[in-house]
Amino acid sequence: MPVPLAPYPTPPAPYTPPTNGAQSQLVCSGCRNLLVYPVGATSVCCAVCNAVTSVPPPGTEMAQLVCGGCHTLLMYIRGATSVQCSCCHTVNLALEANQVAHVNCGNCRMLLMYQYGARSVKCAVCNFVTSVGTSASTTEQKFST
Ligand SMILES: [Zn+2]
Ligand SMILES: [Zn+2]
Ligand SMILES: [Zn+2]
Repeated sequence: MPVPLAPYPTPPAPYTPPTNGAQSQLVCSGCRNLLVYPVGATSVCCAVCNAVTSVPPPGTEMAQLVCGGCHTLLMYIRGATSVQCSCCHTVNLALEANQVAHVNCGNCRMLLMYQYGARSVKCAVCNFVTSVGTSASTTEQKFST
């Protein structure tokens, strides 16, 4: 005869998706509408144009810029150097880069400004070329030269 197992009162754990209701936003790859999606989703289907826009992996820092051609708000992954607008195909430079950094001239100590990423700066006063060793160990780019 089958021995009945003790009926432990184990209520089914309510399924709790790991989203705390948190939401994030992205721009539809089809119609450029701003879409809101729950954090954790991997893709979002646009209600307007039905385009499926894949969600960048968590931790990806998104940045925004306004297209120089059509003034549409574009989103891009921070660190990208250019963003092509899907509306007017204008390639917008997204250089972090419009940043400037400062260095003192190695010769006359004049404070020089240079574009972030530059390797050397020529002093406008004494024409001395100061090399910018911007933490070469960490920001070393693999240039295929
Ligand atoms: Zn859309
Ligand atoms: Zn555009
Ligand atoms: Zn100088």
